[in-house]
Amino acid sequence: MSGKMIIVSAPSGAGKTTIVKHIMENIATLGFSVSATSRAPRKGETDGSDYYFMSTGDFRKEIEADRFVEWEEVYPGHYYGTLKSEVERIWNRGMNIIFDVDVKGGISIKNIYNDKALSIFIMPPSVAELEKRLRYRGKDGDDKIRMRVEKAVEEIGFAGKFDEIVVNDDLHTACNEVLKLINEFLNQ
Ligand code: ADP
Ligand code: 5GP
Repeated sequence: MSGKMIIVSAPSGAGKTTIVKHIMENIATLGFSVSATSRAPRKGETDGSDYYFMSTGDFRKEIEADRFVEWEEVYPGHYYGTLKSEVERIWNRGMNIIFDVDVKGGISIKNIYNDKALSIFIMPPSVAELEKRLRYRGKDGDDKIRMRVEKAVEEIGFAGKFDEIVVNDDLHTACNEVLKLINEFLNQ
């Protein structure tokens, strides 16, 4: 049993989490792909629902056993990856899959599944606005924000590799645009 896939990627702070949450609330046939990660759980996160949390050693074992569709060291020392078993789990339930992955991971998944997948890049209105949102979110210190902004500039350079680019200036407009693109893709 196999369905379709929606890939949503963006530089950190562009609004991907906010938009994916909105999509999940509005399209019932989408199953969220729970990734594996070697980073520690944050307050409020649950194993098996936010991520499959594992040690770096166990993550490496999964790589060696070829159990990932794709994996990336998204931040130095922190690994994230999509398990092949996760794709099977969601498709076996008769659902389509939505991925919240980084830009490189998004490009890898699209290259593997081609026409089965719709890849969407969430673009911030500007790098200055992105930095403002990261500060407003209040989750990261100055050093981390600088690192995220530098990475964002590099990631924006890959936007052209996605099927669709949606600028998240006004949140309501961006959510509606993304919903429309996904519904069109799922219904075609
Ligand atoms: P990401 O998952 O891409 O890192 P978030 O969804 O966490 O980004 O959004 C980063 C911050 O920007 C959050 O505080 C969020 O509420 C805010 N935000 C998201 N979209 C907009 C928007 N269109 N205008 C202003 N603020 C936004
Ligand atoms: P966070 O630690 O904030 O939850 O996520 C950090 C980044 O890792 C986000 O950009 C998120 O999209 C990305 N990410 C989460 N899961 C995966 C995955 O399975 N593969 C890849 N390549 N990136 C992922």
